[in-house]
This record gives sequence, structure tokens and C-alpha cells, in this order.
Amino acid sequence: MSDLRELYQEVILDHSRNPRNFGRLENANHEADGNNPLCGDQITLFVRTEDGMVIDISFEGSGCAISTASASLMTEALKGKSIEDAQELFEQFHGMVTGDPMRESQSAQSMGKLSVLAGVREFPVRVKCASLAWHTFKAAIEEAVEPVSTE
Ligand code: ZN
Repeated sequence: MSDLRELYQEVILDHSRNPRNFGRLENANHEADGNNPLCGDQITLFVRTEDGMVIDISFEGSGCAISTASASLMTEALKGKSIEDAQELFEQFHGMVTGDPMRESQSAQSMGKLSVLAGVREFPVRVKCASLAWHTFKAAIEEAVEPVSTE
């Protein structure tokens, strides 16, 4: 299992050093700030949705390796997904990092690359680092509900 653990660490290091989808998204229609004062992680998330789909997503901010890697991996995982699927993935990810046994079994297979972050469940402080981006995504989507059109 130690080989697997090393591989996971490599993926996390890679994404923390070269975060994907990093930078402001000019045509975003959802935006939210996230803060993890326990560690000092800060993130601003930009999301562009159209017809219930996450068309584009990016983030800015600074934080520890785990929070940066998690945000980077999340943007890769969510781009092109429906908002419904994205929220489902949020639940699965949350179950995985908190070690919720009810959700864990169903999440293991469908998490793909995100499963590299499963190890944080052994470190309660790190769980907040890993889930910051996801909570920020949820806030961005739920706060900025598309205005109801009367046309
Ligand atoms: Zn952190």
C-alpha cells in the first residue's frame, strides 16, 4: 500500500505546485470566497454555468498544498458536469474525507483521481483544507441562484 500512498502524494504535490484552472474567470456568473482560518487557506472560486451545466470553473487564492491541490482537482472534476452531478460529487467527496461509512462504500469507485485525498480523514485539521474548495463551490452555486425570468 505504500506505493499507492506515494503515488497519491505525487498527485497532490503536482496539483499544488501546478494548479489547474488557476486564475480569474472573466465570464463567471457565480463567485464565492472561502476561508479556512485554522490553516490560513483562502480561495475565490469562479464558476460559469449554462443550462444547468458547469461550463467553466477556476480559482484564485493561496493556501497549503492540500487546499490548493484539492481545489485544482475539484475544478478538473467538475468542469463539464451538470450542477446536479456536481452536488452529488460534493456529497461523495465529503463522505470520503470525513470517513462517513454510510457514504464511503458508494464513493470509493466513482471518485477517480479525487480519491488521492482520502488520506486526509486521518488528520481532522486537513479535512477542512481538503473540503474548503468544495464548500466554496456549493456556496457559489447556491447563493447566486439564477434570477427567475418573467419573460
Ligand atoms: Zn490548509
